[in-house]
Amino acid sequence: MPFSSLGLCDPLLKAVAELGYTTPTPIQEKAIPLILWGSDLIAAAQTGTGKTASFALPLLQMFNKDRTLRGKRIRALILTPTRELAIQVEANIAQYGKYLNLTSMAMYGGVDSAPQKERLIDGVDILVATPGRLLDMAHQRALHFDELEVLVLDEADRMLDMGFIEDINKIMERLPVERQSLLFSATLGRDVRTLAKRSLINPEEIAISRDKASKPKIDQWLVTVDKDKKSALLSHLIKEQQWDQALIFIETKQGAAKLVSQLEKRGIDAQAIHGGRAQAVRESVLADFKSGELKFLVATGIAARGLDIDELSRVVNYDLPDKVDDYIHRIGRTGRAGLSGEAVSFVSKDNFRNLCAIESRLGHIIVRKEFEEFPVRKVVPVSKLNFVPKHRR
Ligand code: AMP
Repeated sequence: MPFSSLGLCDPLLKAVAELGYTTPTPIQEKAIPLILWGSDLIAAAQTGTGKTASFALPLLQMFNKDRTLRGKRIRALILTPTRELAIQVEANIAQYGKYLNLTSMAMYGGVDSAPQKERLIDGVDILVATPGRLLDMAHQRALHFDELEVLVLDEADRMLDMGFIEDINKIMERLPVERQSLLFSATLGRDVRTLAKRSLINPEEIAISRDKASKPKIDQWLVTVDKDKKSALLSHLIKEQQWDQALIFIETKQGAAKLVSQLEKRGIDAQAIHGGRAQAVRESVLADFKSGELKFLVATGIAARGLDIDELSRVVNYDLPDKVDDYIHRIGRTGRAGLSGEAVSFVSKDNFRNLCAIESRLGHIIVRKEFEEFPVRKVVPVSKLNFVPKHRR
């Protein structure tokens, strides 16, 4: 099923296409129409299933009508257990809504509240908040809920585990009774059910397991490697694992040309596309890669933009990208249309911060594989999940 059949407007379809989403995940397929219809919803879905877009897209769609927002008012409240999740959910909303005129904001404790108050003055369409700071703001009358239309409880089980039940109850007492409520939780235990009973009315229920949910079936793994061993490792993998095909991302055009010659020396036929090559050459190399005549294509991120290949079985991050979005985008080029794909990343010690950021966004650590022929001198530590890049703190 394509995204376009879910009833979403063009600006949203354009934004998700730019993020490399081609087909909705199972939870998106089920939840988006129900939410647009106005139902309350209880959904069992873990991180990694695409749950954020499953509520964010219909919210944006529903709010994309002319309406003046009054000061200190919000239209949707998304409650999350942690500030990291609040930041991440809000960042997703901003990406999905980039072609709409709606406002969103993440609000959490542990930081000065003055700038947050300031931003609430004109009202915010979609507020993503942790319970404690939200209550604080409500007590201070920096925020009123009389225009609230939708409540989302995200990762409800984690909020309960973290002891937020009293705060959540106090918040719910302040919300209009007539509202749409959505609850997302990895597990639906007794406490979550009790919370659902109190907060939802006749909800539709959907359950998505992570296995089924991983519709883009992308097998992600990484290998830690010293920088000077990358090209030897790549040749080794191509030969030992009998790779049929790979789109290999590299940082610079000089690096791309060098890698092609290193592969050639080891008997592997590869070509490079980068900004420095003439358009006609790029097009013919791409055509060869698409037809399968060329098996290994080395590309810089810029040259690979818009490169759309069906049935691509493998992408390799020879250089790990600086931006998490680029990683997500790159791996989204494989495993399309229900086919399985593989995303391999080469990670060296100075990529550690990027790796942490990527893994926190994914919500899980990427499987590491080791190859005894390539022992590392500079060990890459295991990531800290929930790492927030400095510029977003
Ligand atoms: P979530 O479960 O919301 O944390 O999403 C997990 C990851 O899947 C995020 O990085 C999203 O950007 C990505 N994602 C969400 N929906 C899709 C989709 N339809 N196709 C590809 N990737 C998606």
